[in-house]
Amino acid sequence: MKKLLLATLVVLSLCSWGYLVHRTTVQLALYHLPTKMRPFFFQNLDYLVKHSVRPDERRRFDSTEAPKHFIDLEAFGENAATQMPESWAEASARYTADTLRKYGIVPWTITENFQKLTNAFRRGKRDSILYFAADLGHYVGDAHVPLHTSLNYDGQLSNQRGIHSLWESTLPELSFDQYQFFEKHRVRYLRDPQRAAWEAVRSGNALLKAVFDEERDLTQQFPDSVKYRIQRRNGIPLKYYTTAFAKAYGQRVNPAVQTQLRHSAHAIADFWYTAWVDAGKPDLNALITNTPPDSARAQLRAEVKAYKANALLSKGWLRARAVNNEQ
Ligand SMILES: [Zn+2]
Repeated sequence: MKKLLLATLVVLSLCSWGYLVHRTTVQLALYHLPTKMRPFFFQNLDYLVKHSVRPDERRRFDSTEAPKHFIDLEAFGENAATQMPESWAEASARYTADTLRKYGIVPWTITENFQKLTNAFRRGKRDSILYFAADLGHYVGDAHVPLHTSLNYDGQLSNQRGIHSLWESTLPELSFDQYQFFEKHRVRYLRDPQRAAWEAVRSGNALLKAVFDEERDLTQQFPDSVKYRIQRRNGIPLKYYTTAFAKAYGQRVNPAVQTQLRHSAHAIADFWYTAWVDAGKPDLNALITNTPPDSARAQLRAEVKAYKANALLSKGWLRARAVNNEQ
């Protein structure tokens, strides 16, 4: 077997679901909103889709941004997923705020943005509502990703480097056309948003073992020469998973990827809805700029129908795909 010169992979995005999934989940979330919320969100859907990835972009210039996207649970003890204090006050009293920031603060970033969204609804500030709805959607999505809940976030501790983007970006991109996006979900008022944020983290964390185990198991059928490809970037040879390996791995774990994608969308809808209820259910139709034509309402109805029939993609109505193709 050819010995690889470089044992490390460069992973371009270690901060969240790939852009494709973030953009998809905010669109799907909209269809689960109650009818009083839908038209406003629908009129601004392009904004929400575009800015659903803004928190990742912010990492480039804001050094406080990175820990908002994950939590390395092992740093807080063996059963941290269930035993760590849920509130910031208690968790920071036990571990110190600095330690929390070092190992990730996604559960509290979610509630912080949830509060900001609630306040924006309360004040009827159109731009703030959209801004925080997009940010909140991003962090809620990230909490659902198994590798956002572990110190071994890129398999670097188990000789599985590169698994992060394999799971959250490569797999969805490879199999998007076969994904089942719709699952019945009645939007739910979150009595305890902090707990709901933790439930998202726990749902991701529960899948972590399988994420690693399936890769390891499959590796037995793939010698390195078939498992990896070498690509030079700026003259430096880098190791990436091959498409053949990614496809085989996808066959094993795509059901879980899809479940997390759907649950992300449902949770985003729940958080948006709860913020709106807590703000006293303000009239969002008053925030709609330029009365939309009847055709917009008809389009929204058609999209909800298409979503339920898993036909958004085939009809060309999934914004994430349109945006991605433009790039
Ligand atoms: Zn992220």
